[in-house]
Amino acid sequence: PVAVAGGGETGRKPSQASLRTADPEFLAEMQHESQRLESATPQEVLAWAVGRFAPKFAMATAFGPEGMTIIHMLAEIAPETPVFNLDTGYQFAETLELREEVKRRYGIEVELKQPELSVEEYERVNNGPVYSHDPGRCCRDRKLKVLEQSALDYTAWASAIRRDQSPDRAKAPIVGWDKKFGLMKVTPLANWTKKDVWSLISKEQIPYNPLHDQGYTSIGCFPCTRNVLPGEDERAGRWSGFAKTECGLHTSD
Ligand code: SF4
Repeated sequence: PVAVAGGGETGRKPSQASLRTADPEFLAEMQHESQRLESATPQEVLAWAVGRFAPKFAMATAFGPEGMTIIHMLAEIAPETPVFNLDTGYQFAETLELREEVKRRYGIEVELKQPELSVEEYERVNNGPVYSHDPGRCCRDRKLKVLEQSALDYTAWASAIRRDQSPDRAKAPIVGWDKKFGLMKVTPLANWTKKDVWSLISKEQIPYNPLHDQGYTSIGCFPCTRNVLPGEDERAGRWSGFAKTECGLHTSD
């Protein structure tokens, strides 16, 4: 058994996900494993995570190129791994179509996890869209709270971030305690580059979001995503015009 204390039982409040703590001995073991896995391939990292945590190991995906790469690997290693998407209600039609493609190609049914209020209800109680003036709150309401709730069902989750995406992400361990969600976070692509990801997509014909061919390098919700101009950072098209650069899933604040 994995020594994660607090939370995990049914009926607990979502806010209690972040109150879960991990046993120091368990954390020391994970730190050791993380260092050992530094030279492992992403497939080896995933196989280790499945062996260590399944059936309490899941993946959350926004169907980005990195996420699609991990889904492709999971389809070979452990296709029964639960995969879910935080469905804010503001996703591009192209993104939702990829979910269908994943089902056709891999037989994997990505579960859509939705906030309590539909977009219509949410905008009605807030007198209009929240993303236009307070994207931080909108992301909290439509993504973070949903992941907090989902986290209670698992011990570990796979993230699709790469260290070379941003200074903040550069510190991501292969395996580390995610105190925000009370989960072990496994990052198999930590040491991969964007080129590595696209090489595999091309070699294995992995499906990807067609918006990437229209200059969208990082794709989130349609109101908060634009295509990027030549020379801009790959995440420059997210929350353009706001100081915000992350939805909060991968930051420690
Ligand atoms: Fe809301 Fe934009 Fe965040 Fe989506 S990305 S949840 S629309 S603020």
